Amino acid sequence: MTIQWYPGHMAKATRELQEWIKRVDVVVELADARIPQASRNPVLNDVLSDRPKVLAMVKTDMADETVTKQWQQHFEQNGENVVLMNAKHNKGSGKLIQEVKRLAQPKMQALQKKGIKKRAVRAMIVGVPNVGKSTVINRLVGKNQAKTGDRPAMTRGNHWLKVSNEMELLDTPGILWPKFEDQEVGYKLAITGAIKDERLDFQDVVLYLIQQLQKWYPQALEERYNLSELPSEGVDIFETIGRKRGCLIAGGDVDFDQAAEVILRDFRSEKLGPISLEKPE
Ligand code: GDP
Repeated sequence: MTIQWYPGHMAKATRELQEWIKRVDVVVELADARIPQASRNPVLNDVLSDRPKVLAMVKTDMADETVTKQWQQHFEQNGENVVLMNAKHNKGSGKLIQEVKRLAQPKMQALQKKGIKKRAVRAMIVGVPNVGKSTVINRLVGKNQAKTGDRPAMTRGNHWLKVSNEMELLDTPGILWPKFEDQEVGYKLAITGAIKDERLDFQDVVLYLIQQLQKWYPQALEERYNLSELPSEGVDIFETIGRKRGCLIAGGDVDFDQAAEVILRDFRSEKLGPISLEKPE
């Protein structure tokens, strides 16, 4: 589902987030490992108050492993608690749970000192649309939910999902809006499917993707589209791929919309291999 965000939505989302965060001990922020910067929204830090936060880089199976490690190091140097996740193959859930518990420790100990009965650590998942929130929630609670059987539909935002006896998760994720600050960020969000922004030209989005691939992963382009040598201009690569794939309009010119669809589909279905669209400075 893609929603168009307006200032009213954003204000409401921020208020709701603030309320939910008050009820949890730890916040889990999801970022797409392919665009770990563009897929985050700094507004989250404004509403965290003193809650500790884990940054879970998800979809690591789709990203360039070397670049993901660089990002992890970059974020850790900035004092963040980072966990790498691949929800598709269920990797990283254990680490995430461990990290949430670790970060909640000081608060849990303080509560116990005050004589408050021990309770499960409470956390919530937050992120932009399509980043993988539901998938991660399912990974964390999947088995336990199955065990509890068919519970009636729950009121959103008011219930806790059991991860284990020691951890609970808010039943609904916090949705952050994608950043619209500059065109490049918009392109990255559109390529990865976080936004379907009508303000962006589809062909421009794919041209940007081609240029990024040409710069960082020329081999992926050559191999996928059987090109012995890449033309030097992105737009010429675009045209060559279109022609190779038979995306033509009457008269024999390349149908760039159709070619764009082919390339974007290939990228999203990992036909071009694991790719990161941004690197730490
Ligand atoms: P939400 O909108 O943030 O709740 O995102 P979803 O959980 O619905 O996930 C969006 C898409 O990303 C779905 O097609 C998921 O299958 C896919 N997805 C989520 N996590 C991963 C992951 O770690 N690896 C891969 N390859 N796909 C993922």
